Amino acid sequence: MKSLRAISFLVAVFASASAAFAAGSTGNAFYGDPPDDRHPWAIHDQNRPQPKVVAPLPVSELEQKARPPADAVVLFDGTEAALAKWVSDKNPNEPTKWIVRDGAMECVPKSGYVRTKEEFGDCQLHVEWAAPGKVEGDGQGRGNSGIFILGVEIQVLDSYNNPTYADGMACSMYGVNPPLANALRPPGEFQYVDITFHKPVYKDGQCVDPGWVTVFCNGVLVQDRAQLEGPTGHRARTKPGPLPEKGPLRLQDHGNPVRFRNIWYRPLSLKTWPLPAQRPLSAKATAAKRKELAASIRNDAARKGDNAVEQMLRFAESLVYEKDDATFKKVEQMACAYAASVKELPADKLAPKKDEVKKVGDAFKYLAKWNIVPADFAPKTDIEKLIKAQGWDKKK
Ligand code: MG
Repeated sequence: MKSLRAISFLVAVFASASAAFAAGSTGNAFYGDPPDDRHPWAIHDQNRPQPKVVAPLPVSELEQKARPPADAVVLFDGTEAALAKWVSDKNPNEPTKWIVRDGAMECVPKSGYVRTKEEFGDCQLHVEWAAPGKVEGDGQGRGNSGIFILGVEIQVLDSYNNPTYADGMACSMYGVNPPLANALRPPGEFQYVDITFHKPVYKDGQCVDPGWVTVFCNGVLVQDRAQLEGPTGHRARTKPGPLPEKGPLRLQDHGNPVRFRNIWYRPLSLKTWPLPAQRPLSAKATAAKRKELAASIRNDAARKGDNAVEQMLRFAESLVYEKDDATFKKVEQMACAYAASVKELPADKLAPKKDEVKKVGDAFKYLAKWNIVPADFAPKTDIEKLIKAQGWDKKK
C-alpha cells in the first residue's frame, strides 16, 4: 500500500512537471539530430539560448528602404495581377490557390506552397510578411510560413511572445542558425525582412565558398553572414553541398494564413570577384590580378593618343599595378619631354597650366614615395622646382 501511494505521488509530481514544462518549453529534447563534432547543439535544441528582444525600427523609416530599387525584379506588388507571377509549388503548371486580400498575398491553409515562375540564385531579397492578427496556436503552430531560397528556409513565424526552439524562430536559418535578435512586431503587423543570399561555390567538386546568408528584420541585423549548411531541414541535420544555380522563390504553407506583400529581388552577380572564400588572396592570385589590371590600364592609355598628359599619367598609373621596364622607359621619356616643355613656357602660357602641372607633380611624388620611380627621377625634380618657383606649393 505504502509503495503504491509513493508511486501515485510520483505520478502526480511528473504530471505537474510535464504541464509546467509544456507551458514554458521552447522545444522537445530527444527530438532533432543530436550534437556532433561540429555542432554543440542538437537540431531544434531547447537548450540553445533564446535571442534577445530588440525593438524594431519605426515603419516610417523602413518604408523608405522597402521601395524596390531601379534594377529590382518585382515579384509581388500587392495587385491581383501579380499573382500570375506565382504558381502552385507542387503542380507548377497550375495557378496558386493563395489569394490577394488588402494588397497582400495570403496563404490558404492546406493549398500548398507557392513558388515564383521567375528563377534566380544569389540575390538581395526584400519580403514583408504578417502573421495573423488573431493569435492561434503556439510555438511552431503560430503564424508559421517560410521563405525558401534554393531550399534554404528563412523562417517566418509569429515569434512575438511565442518561445520556440531558437533555430526555428522567425528569421532563423531553419534548423541551422538562430537569429541574433528578436526584432518582431506584434502579430497582424508587417515585418520588413531583407536578405542577401550567396549560394555555395564548388569548383571541380571542391568547395571554394560555403555560401552565406545575411538577414535584417525590421532594420535589425539578425543573420550576419551565416554560413549555409545545404538545404534546411526539419529534425535532421543538413549537409553542406552544392545548390542549384537558380531556382524559384518558394513560400511555405504551414497551415497558417500568413500574409506577404512587397516582394522584390535584385540578382547579385555570379562573377563577383574575388570570391569571399578567396580573401585574403594568395600572392599568386594577387599578382595575376595586378597584371591583368595593368594590361587593361595600358590598353586604355594607348587609346589616349590625343591627350599626351593623360596618356603619360595613365601609363604611369599602370606601373602601380605591375612593374614593367618598357612602360617605365616610355613614361620616363614622356615625363622628360613634358618637364622640358613646361619649363620653357612664358609666364602667361604657364599660368593656365597650374592645375595640370600640379597634378603631374603629385603623381610623380606618389610614384617616388612607393618606389615605383626612383627618388631622384629627373622629371619629378624638375617639376617640383617649377612648382616651388611659381609659389604653387604654398597653401593659401
Ligand atoms: Mg516555416
